[in-house]
Amino acid sequence: MPRVRSLTWVACLSVALAPASILVAQGGGAPNHPTVTVDGAAYTPQSILTRNMGTAADQATAFPPHKIIGNIYYVGTRTLSSFLIVTSSGNILIDSTYERNVPTISGSVEQLGFKFSDIKILLGNHAHGDHQEGDAMVKSLTGAQIVAMAEDVPALQGIKPGGKEHPIDRILHDGDRVTLGDVTLVAHLTAGHTHGGTTWTTTAQEAGKTYNVVFGCSLRAPNAISPDVAAELTRSFDVVRHLPCDVPLGDHPAEYGLQEKYARVKPGGANPFIDAAGCHHEADIQEAMFHAILAEQEQSAGRGR
Ligand SMILES: [Zn+2]
Repeated sequence: MPRVRSLTWVACLSVALAPASILVAQGGGAPNHPTVTVDGAAYTPQSILTRNMGTAADQATAFPPHKIIGNIYYVGTRTLSSFLIVTSSGNILIDSTYERNVPTISGSVEQLGFKFSDIKILLGNHAHGDHQEGDAMVKSLTGAQIVAMAEDVPALQGIKPGGKEHPIDRILHDGDRVTLGDVTLVAHLTAGHTHGGTTWTTTAQEAGKTYNVVFGCSLRAPNAISPDVAAELTRSFDVVRHLPCDVPLGDHPAEYGLQEKYARVKPGGANPFIDAAGCHHEADIQEAMFHAILAEQEQSAGRGR
């Protein structure tokens, strides 16, 4: 069984190389092959994981909280996104991130002039600890309703910081809507990275215009792609390419170039987060990598025959 043996070896090697915090969050390390080049930049699975997660300090340090567009604000850390959506009847939070980050997120919400206790609904992008470990703490602090995509429920139930049960108050299916006050978000099933990975969409107003906002979910393929996951990702790439989009966001800031865009924010200037041309950039990277990993898998399976 040469194929199985070589996959095991790769997994062990990457476990030895990757920081523990990345491994816990992502369910394993990532190898340094294959390489894909998209828009002149080269990526490996390992470089994407490092780009997403940064250092332990990056994961835990607040990025300056800021308005993205209209009623939508960034309240996450340097490498783990958390978004606040202000409505006429309380607020919505997307992603609690790690439990230890909840006080940091709360601090960012208050720094923007809002109350953490006004969060009425907590949404998630996907059932990995770096995005949803803090759900129980957010619920205990705010009483927020916790909403989850049906296909992610088993994985969420396995996220139990300190032994706490993962709270789930409402279960959604593809295309379901979540409304609070004057804001509605639509949940799009974009599976593959997890079985219930969810891309959220809504609209926001700025200077009399309406913009489509897409809270992208990670589409990063696992190190070994099963036929089921291949089918999920293939469908998800198609879904995200057909969503109306003016403002692309992501569950890791690097997926939408937060640092570069934030550096371009100027009073009275154009809003750098409005980036229709960049809406498919992350899908382009992940889809190229998906096909490269599949090709590598097929090659090594061929060698094993
Ligand atoms: Zn993940």
